[in-house]
Amino acid sequence: MSTIPRAIWRRWRSAWRRWSLWTALIALVVSMLVTMVWLAGRYEASQVQSHLERDAADAVSDIRAALTRNLQSLQALNSGDPGLLAWEVEASDLLRNQRELVRLEWRDSAMRLRTHVQSPYRAVLWDRGLRDHNNSEANQACSTARRLSSPAYSGSYYQPHVDGLGSELMELCLPLSTGGRASGYLIATYALQSVLADMVGASLTRSQEASFTEPDGTRLAVLGASRRGSRMFTAQQLLDLPGTTLVLRMDTWHTAPSVFPNVLTALVTAMSIALVTVMWVLVRDNRRRLRAERDLGDALAFRKAMEDSLVTGLRARDLQGRITYVNPAFCEMVGFTAQELMGHSTSAPASALYWPPERVEEYRQRQAIRFAGNTPPREGFESEFMRKDGTRFPVLIIEAPLINAQGLHTGWMSAFLDISEQRRVEELSRASQERLQATARLATVGEMASLLSHELNQPLAAISSYATGSLNLLEPPSATDPQPSAESLQDVRMAMRQIARQAERAGRVIKSVHDFVRRRDQAREAVPAQQLVDAILPLAILQARKLGVRVHTMVEPGLPPALCDRTMVEQVLLNLARNAMQAMDDPTIHTRVLDIRVKRAASNRHNVWLEFSVTDCGSGIPDEVAQKLFTPFFTTRTEGMGLGLSLCRTVVEQHGGYLGFAPHEPRGTVFTFTLPAHQPSKS
Ligand code: ADP
Repeated sequence: MSTIPRAIWRRWRSAWRRWSLWTALIALVVSMLVTMVWLAGRYEASQVQSHLERDAADAVSDIRAALTRNLQSLQALNSGDPGLLAWEVEASDLLRNQRELVRLEWRDSAMRLRTHVQSPYRAVLWDRGLRDHNNSEANQACSTARRLSSPAYSGSYYQPHVDGLGSELMELCLPLSTGGRASGYLIATYALQSVLADMVGASLTRSQEASFTEPDGTRLAVLGASRRGSRMFTAQQLLDLPGTTLVLRMDTWHTAPSVFPNVLTALVTAMSIALVTVMWVLVRDNRRRLRAERDLGDALAFRKAMEDSLVTGLRARDLQGRITYVNPAFCEMVGFTAQELMGHSTSAPASALYWPPERVEEYRQRQAIRFAGNTPPREGFESEFMRKDGTRFPVLIIEAPLINAQGLHTGWMSAFLDISEQRRVEELSRASQERLQATARLATVGEMASLLSHELNQPLAAISSYATGSLNLLEPPSATDPQPSAESLQDVRMAMRQIARQAERAGRVIKSVHDFVRRRDQAREAVPAQQLVDAILPLAILQARKLGVRVHTMVEPGLPPALCDRTMVEQVLLNLARNAMQAMDDPTIHTRVLDIRVKRAASNRHNVWLEFSVTDCGSGIPDEVAQKLFTPFFTTRTEGMGLGLSLCRTVVEQHGGYLGFAPHEPRGTVFTFTLPAHQPSKS
């Protein structure tokens, strides 16, 4: 099996195990709950059932006791051989007190009716014929009584009432004897409904129903249970009477919801619900934790990949200066392993392995300042580190406070950029720029060589003619008088003075070129604008004379000096002046004026700027030339190099200024550039 399917299989197995455990647990808890609720319900039902059985048994014994009591009262009715009238009075009394008795009959031994009384509570429609019939319940009860020689009951039967209703009745036949001989019968008729009402009714609860039923379940008389519930419980008891057997049935309805039949079940259910809820919360919590763990793992992997791919070195330090983290790029930069760096910083937090020994003290102080709470500059600062092999290299350090999740400052996080390569490129570019400028300057000088020869010609010719004249004067006037005359000597002296002056003039011309080519002072300095203009004037005038140009300069009084590289700015001015004069080298142009001006430029509160302008009345710059004006090596002149303006712009921009041009009315062009003014307070 390859690695990937095996990993998937392992993950699937562990997920399956975790889920099967949870499923088993949930199934167990649920089945336990259901069983408990079911058991509690069953217990409750059995309680209700046994209670009902007890009630039914009690009811049966109550009825039996009441019937026995009635039997005694009935026996008492005929004791002492009462007369018919007395019997009727007594019997009426009895019927008034015992509502369950409907009728009392006194019959003789041949079953003929001697007298009877009826309950005042019930108007029953008696059919005499039916009643005296041999098969009537009364006769049957009496025959049973005769046979048993004791009171006997008949089976129940339905008897209609006067009002159209009817009721279920039962006969009791009581054999009478006088002096040991059968003298007749006392027949008492019971209304089963009233038997229930008077003998059981008092002990019946509202949810119970008592009824007499036949063995097949047909109800003969019913009492109670106006309210019905969801569940019915039934108990049956036999009421065994001599001659007949009645079935007393008791029903009860349980009205409470059967899921919570009692407090115990409710408590168990509530606790179970709480348990299930806790389990559900646990499962949810577990799932969330798993998801968070997975997200965290992803985030860590992402961070690791990001750190490993970085070329920027990262280092974290705690507030004591101990290194707590370095990324692979940092280790590669300094040549030490993460263990070496962290191990050293734990033993000596006040120094680091990559600090050059000669700068340890300086870096220590810097670290102390940082740990005192000073925030480093946002754009970073430069420093020098040492590799494991002892070589030094420059780095750019950007530091930021390390704030933990609780918002506490726990240390410093630093990012390092190895800037050796950047330095090398800068150095190369600076050198080539310098070379370019030197070349341009030499080109200017070469161009000027012809002007120089023309300019030097005059003093040299003057010197030569003064020298020839002097020599002639020094010739002896005659062989006799070898001494030159006093006038001659006077003239020679004058000629010598002229020679000296002309030589000095030629020297000045050469010196100005020499100065221009040789001076290479890079440092920026405060130079008055007038000095800058004056420095290029001799060279500019050389060309101006040749082209018949009038040079006009004007420097605004009271200007602050410019803060600039003097040589470079002089070259810019000279270039612009030369371009301007060349633009006027056209026979159609008669007014040839070169105007060089310096004034204060629009400045803001912090910086003051000077504006230099060089104006000519030349041919102007056509649009197609204007687009390429600052492109190196672009020129319209056959002998031009096309470097002048591009270098001028570089120089001006290096000073933070701006070089531009605009047409000059009525003709010509004005080139303008700005330079920062020197402000004493800022130095
Ligand atoms: P170069 O002087 O060697 O030609 P520059 O870079 O100094 O090189 O000038 C480039 C071109 O710009 C010139 O050839 C010229 O056509 C044009 N130019 C520069 N200054 C002016 C000016 N004041 N008036 C008209 N054209 C100009």
